[in-house]
Amino acid sequence: MKLRKVTAASAAILALALAATACGSSDNKDSGSSSSGGGKIKIGIKYDQPGLGLKEPSGSFSGFDVDVATYVAGKLGYKPNQIDFVETKSADRENALQRGDVKFIVASYSINDERKQKVDFAGPYFLAHQDLLVKKDSKITKGTDLNGQNLCSVTGSTSAQNVQKTIAPKANLKENSGYSECIASLQSGAVDALTTDDSILAGYAAQDKYKGQFKLLGLKLSNENYGIGVKKGDTATLNKINDALKSMVSDGTWKKDVEKNFGPAHYKYEPAPKVGVIVK
Ligand code: GLU
Repeated sequence: MKLRKVTAASAAILALALAATACGSSDNKDSGSSSSGGGKIKIGIKYDQPGLGLKEPSGSFSGFDVDVATYVAGKLGYKPNQIDFVETKSADRENALQRGDVKFIVASYSINDERKQKVDFAGPYFLAHQDLLVKKDSKITKGTDLNGQNLCSVTGSTSAQNVQKTIAPKANLKENSGYSECIASLQSGAVDALTTDDSILAGYAAQDKYKGQFKLLGLKLSNENYGIGVKKGDTATLNKINDALKSMVSDGTWKKDVEKNFGPAHYKYEPAPKVGVIVK
């Protein structure tokens, strides 16, 4: 009798606990469903790429991806103070979208066939090219010079893949989780070169602490069409983002934001791509 009572009480507690967990997980998954009112939207960006996505020491965010994300969120009905920027590192982006951690990702995220099997892309909204950053006195002048050299790039990036497949399969590639670790390795001499998109490398090279130390080779080793990642099948969000990107270009905001973010690094950016048109 006594035993039965205990069991009933435990069952009640267990039921309550399960209900609480269920509530909690659905809250976490709400990465931005309300398009107006007091709701918040979670957007994935990079935290360590000056000129694109950077978390400032003050806690605020800057960069072209941040400006694109803010503009698009505005068109979706979210004011800047309703945006939660979440860090999505290169290797985490598909998972973050599949899990529903964020509503969309604006993080130097190249559109490619492999990724398109897992997520959908709006855009493209920017065209960058893979390039090499080396020390000012380096003898490296082209992609094949990397064979046998120590090279840094990031896990889950197209940059690392391209090096291994085509650019320099015999390079000694060290992969980090972010490019800021790579730039530190380049500065210390632990690696001979850093490879990723020229848009990212120009931003690092222009930072006061690195000024005059590196050179960007300008090799255009690939075409990197930046898209905005959304969960596979979320066509409603995808269409709204594409409309927002079109108006960002036509109302002049795209050009203004590109100049603001890349001008200081003297980065020669490409004209705005057409939504739906990939440069191969
Ligand atoms: N755009 C490339 C990519 O999506 C390299 C930059 C990055 O890792 O974010 O993989």
